[in-house]
Amino acid sequence: MPRAARKTHEAQHLYWLFTMILREQVRLAPLTTLGVGGPAQYFVEATTVAEVREGLEFAKDRNLPEFVLGGGSNVVVADEGFAGLVLKISLRGIESHNHVKFRFYRVAAGEEWDPFVARAVEEGCAGVECLSGIPGTVGGTPVQNVGAYGQDVSETIVGVKTINRHSLEVVDFNPVQCAFGYRSSMFHSTAEQRYVILSVEFRLRRDGAPTLTYPDVRRALGSVAEPSLRQVRDAVLGIRRSKSMVLDPDDENSHSAGSFFKNPIVTQRKYDTIAEKAQLRNLAMPSYPAGDGWRKLPAGWLVEHAGFAKGYTRGAVGISSRHSLAIVNRGGATAADIVALKDDIQARVRNEFGIELEPEPVFVGF
Ligand code: NAP
Repeated sequence: MPRAARKTHEAQHLYWLFTMILREQVRLAPLTTLGVGGPAQYFVEATTVAEVREGLEFAKDRNLPEFVLGGGSNVVVADEGFAGLVLKISLRGIESHNHVKFRFYRVAAGEEWDPFVARAVEEGCAGVECLSGIPGTVGGTPVQNVGAYGQDVSETIVGVKTINRHSLEVVDFNPVQCAFGYRSSMFHSTAEQRYVILSVEFRLRRDGAPTLTYPDVRRALGSVAEPSLRQVRDAVLGIRRSKSMVLDPDDENSHSAGSFFKNPIVTQRKYDTIAEKAQLRNLAMPSYPAGDGWRKLPAGWLVEHAGFAKGYTRGAVGISSRHSLAIVNRGGATAADIVALKDDIQARVRNEFGIELEPEPVFVGF
């Protein structure tokens, strides 16, 4: 390996190449919330933009596939691991400044999402309070336009700084260019695999009122008529905890990749067919409006009524006892166990309701 000093360290090879530290055969399971999967052939934890670029260059020079890892909260790694470079984005730092009634935050991609939300709430800035308790890093949030309880990040993002994986140029995108949609953006559609997100800029409202559109949040707030940002954050955290959707090492239900399936959005016509199938079983299919002629279906309801109740267990895997959308590793599960359960759920939902559930996590090494 040119320009590299070589050393052995804890049964791993460490290469010093430029400034990045390149490791081999690094176990990925402990870096994910689901806790399954084999090793990365090569692994770089990038703490500077230069290291991100070096990692990408290394992979490009050797024609290796690369996978960009953030908080590991939405990934399933194959038991065989990943034959390529895993680039863990650990860029840190938050800069902020005020402008008129807004505060702008430029947040490095490797910052944990929830501490950023906590800081914004403490600083009296509105716009992300309903997104409290979501695991993962800031860099992952624009990719699927993370949203919950009536807010999504596209409402407050004003810019995304990226590096092009091929040209290695730094490229800035405005929100229109990001092409945000419901739980989607160009980063996992038209421009999938093209950019690594380096930082995200948010524009939050100083002394703004919290968003209170979601009935669950209102209910959790009880009789509080004009809640503060902090009260809304606490209410959302309470709801999420009650579903084991806040990471807690002592809660076996939280050893998951969060919601495993997307909530399907279907045409009114498709909805009518599904509702009819449900009615034959004396079930009333819940749904929500999703724009003209479209309905949104709760995937959790479909999973449950296809025969996978909360608490369902099959060996080392199962369904969270508090949330029917979370497939959990009950200890010692393999990726194959997880995938087998996912396949069965999809098949049963297809048979029972005629609808294809789309998994939400990213599958690595499959
Ligand atoms: P939930 O609260 O049981 O809701 C399931 C589905 O029903 C969601 O699609 C939700 O829409 C919809 N829904 C519920 N009440 C609604 C209402 N009053 N008006 C319109 N739509 C309504 O879902 P959950 O799985 O426990 O998740 C809680 C929240 O976290 C939801 O907002 C969910 O979307 C969000 N979440 C987001 C991601 C992500 O960004 N990737 C992953 C997991 C969960 P909405 O999706 O529009 O809220």
